[in-house]
Amino acid sequence: MKVIKNLKIILKKALNLIYPLNCVICKKSLNFDDSSYLCPNCHHKIIKNKPPFCIKCGCSLGKKRTASDYICLGCQNKQFYFERVWTVNRYMGIIRQLIHLFKYHRQQYLTRILGKLMVDFIKVNLNYQTVDVLVPVPLHIHKLRQREFNQSNLLAKEINQQISIPIDNSLIRIKRTSSQTGLSEQERFRNIAGAFKIKKGKEIAQKSVLLVDDVLTSGATANECARVLKQGGAKRVEILALAGK
Ligand SMILES: [Zn+2]
Ligand SMILES: [Zn+2]
Repeated sequence: MKVIKNLKIILKKALNLIYPLNCVICKKSLNFDDSSYLCPNCHHKIIKNKPPFCIKCGCSLGKKRTASDYICLGCQNKQFYFERVWTVNRYMGIIRQLIHLFKYHRQQYLTRILGKLMVDFIKVNLNYQTVDVLVPVPLHIHKLRQREFNQSNLLAKEINQQISIPIDNSLIRIKRTSSQTGLSEQERFRNIAGAFKIKKGKEIAQKSVLLVDDVLTSGATANECARVLKQGGAKRVEILALAGK
């Protein structure tokens, strides 16, 4: 009996390396068949944005909305190239921790749960039948080699698998910019200028684009992508970020 028990523990430990059987946040043990990697309690703590949304940053307006517009106070004077932003969750607490694990600790199995949050949001809030293509925010080739994956691409793939909007990789990153972290809002817009272009021979003209990003903060990156996509003839550009304000 003892041997079997030990074997079970070893098997569980081995499996845990591939498919975590403990909640990735609070470490509480999960069921063998639980593929969400998150316990119900932690899942419940994720702060989801709810309508009405600010069209420029995606935040939940709640009762702050004035009768005439869907723009939050902080966005009143902002101008962007994209038509609107959707942010699925607030970038704080559990979702912040999950994105950190996903991006910087190579916990790529988290794509599934993060992608599902996006898909559930799309189904409820977006008129996604009108979207022609998903365009992931591209990484510079050097950054891609370093990280070995593009988090936005993984999220777009997950969305594609669930609701079949094709992925378009026409947008590429040509400039290696320094990190946007720690820069002022103005500096972020300056830093990212000229970082993207449409691949030679690729067509984005007349397409309705949903740009996929992991985190949206100032909107500078999304705006620069939208500028280039519009220059390439895109009919409409909306942004979908896993987390933001
Ligand atoms: Zn938990
Ligand atoms: Zn706003």
